[in-house]
Order: sequence, then structure tokens, then C-alpha cells
Amino acid sequence: MMPRPTPANDIRPRFVVAVTAVRWLSEGTFEIRLERPVGFKFLPGQKISFVDGALRRDYTLLGPVDAPELALCVRHVPDGLFSPRLSRARIGDRFQITAPFGYFTLKTSGRPAVFVATGTGIAPFVAFANAGARGFDLLHGVRTPAELYYRDLLFTAARRYIPCVSAAAGDGEIGPEGFAGRVDRFLSTQYPDGAYDFFLCGRIQMIRDVTRLIDARFSGSRVFIEAYD
Ligand SMILES: Cc1cc2nc3c(=O)[nH]c(=O)nc-3n(C[C@H](O)[C@H](O)[C@H](O)COP(=O)(O)OP(=O)(O)OC[C@H]3O[C@@H](n4cnc5c(N)ncnc54)[C@H](O)[C@@H]3O)c2cc1C
Repeated sequence: MMPRPTPANDIRPRFVVAVTAVRWLSEGTFEIRLERPVGFKFLPGQKISFVDGALRRDYTLLGPVDAPELALCVRHVPDGLFSPRLSRARIGDRFQITAPFGYFTLKTSGRPAVFVATGTGIAPFVAFANAGARGFDLLHGVRTPAELYYRDLLFTAARRYIPCVSAAAGDGEIGPEGFAGRVDRFLSTQYPDGAYDFFLCGRIQMIRDVTRLIDARFSGSRVFIEAYD
């Protein structure tokens, strides 16, 4: 595994970019757009870091890779050090970001691809869909249906789009494919046995739970992970 860069040893190019738009997607999550530096190229699934002195926070680029601006989907963590600053950003505010990096990119094989996200962990899968990925199964674990960001894009791109909603939802709110419960419970009770390419992104607890389940139920699968905390 590559060592994770720290502000002290990170020699990747940096750019100062201005905010071009902030749009709230739900009560706690927003999409923020930034100027795209000249020559800034990235692969679907890669991320950038915001850097401010010793503070550094990573966010996944949503794409499309040829869009004129950079777009990110960010959860506002109320007691967080950095996400509240981003949430209050005004058009024209400037931030320092790194060049894109990371290896959580789409690697296809003969096996069916299964994407599993919690919350804003949906971001790399939006990037994959924006880059033309189709025919995958996608489980999006959220607390309420209002957090099913990018639902239309993902519903169209996926073979099966399965919202997994953990808090009680009203009739019809999660659709016929929806599941009332967490992603690990859907996989353990509803998903057919087999060998898959799993891509997991979001909170570390989900990644631990689902990885254990894959070991137990889907042996022979490949697993790629991106932990957000
Ligand atoms: C590779 C990578 C990619 C990431 N991509 C994204 C992304 O696309 N979108 C995104 O929103 N975040 C993403 N994150 C998480 C992001 O980097 C920050 O950790 C997050 O925004 C919290 O930063 P903060 O400074 O506001 O909170 P901090 O000051 O770091 O944390 C404050 C408290 O909040 C808790 N906390 C941290 N994150 C969350 C969370 N998501 N939900 C609830 N509580 C939390 C912490 O455990 C801590 O107790 C990514 C992380 C990594 C490592």
C-alpha cells in the first residue's frame, strides 16, 4: 500500500481555486463547485485534498472528467474543523487544493460489479456513472430518502439501484427497489450468492461490516475500498 501523504511530505502540485457555486442537496449535504485549474486532469474515483497549514481534508471529485468546473459532494459535519468552512463558502472564496490522486478507480473483470456506498460515499460512483459506467448494481445506504443524492443519474446508469434507508420512510418514498435497513443487512439477506467485484466507499464501520460479510458469503470476490474516516 502507498504511504498516505501528509502536509509535510506531500509534494503534489497545489492550486488556489475560487468557489463558483454551492448548492444544498439536503439539510446536511451540499455540492460545491470550484474553478478548474488549467491542465488539471483526473480519473473517475480520484480525490483532491484541501490544504490549510497543517489541516488537510480529502474529497472525491464527482466529474464529469471533462467538465469546465470541479464538483464535490460534501457532508456538513457540524462540529467538524473543515466541512463547516466549506459549507459557508461564498462564490469567489479561495481555497488551496492539491492535484488529484488515489487508486479507487473502476477496474472491470468478468465478475459483476457491486458498488456499496454510505452517505457522501456515493461520490466515486457518481464519477463512474458520469464517465459512462453502466450495468452495475449499486446499494446506497442513507438514513432518510432525502439523502439519496444523484438518484436519477444512478438509477439510469445502474442495472439495479437499491436505496437502503435505515430510518422509517413513508410509503412509496424509497421506490419498489428500496430496502428498509442497512446495506449490510440487504447484502446478507437479499443478495444472491456469487463472486463479485465489490467497491465499498463511506464510513469505516460500513466497510468493516461489509468486508466481513463478503468473506463469509461471497468468497472469491474482489474488494476495493475507500474509507472516508
Ligand atoms: C479518501 C477520502 C475521501 C473523502 N471524500 C469525501 C467526500 O467526497 N465527501 C465528504 O463529505 N467527505 C469526504 N471525506 C471525509 C472528509 O475528508 C472529512 O473527513 C469530513 O468532511 C470531516 O471533516 P471535518 O474537518 O469537517 O471534521 P473533523 O474535524 O475531521 O471531524 C469532527 C468529528 O466528526 C466526525 N466525522 C468525520 N467525518 C464524518 C462524517 N462524514 N459524518 C459524520 N461524522 C463525521 C469525526 O469522527 C469527528 O468526531 C473523505 C475522506 C477521505 C479519507
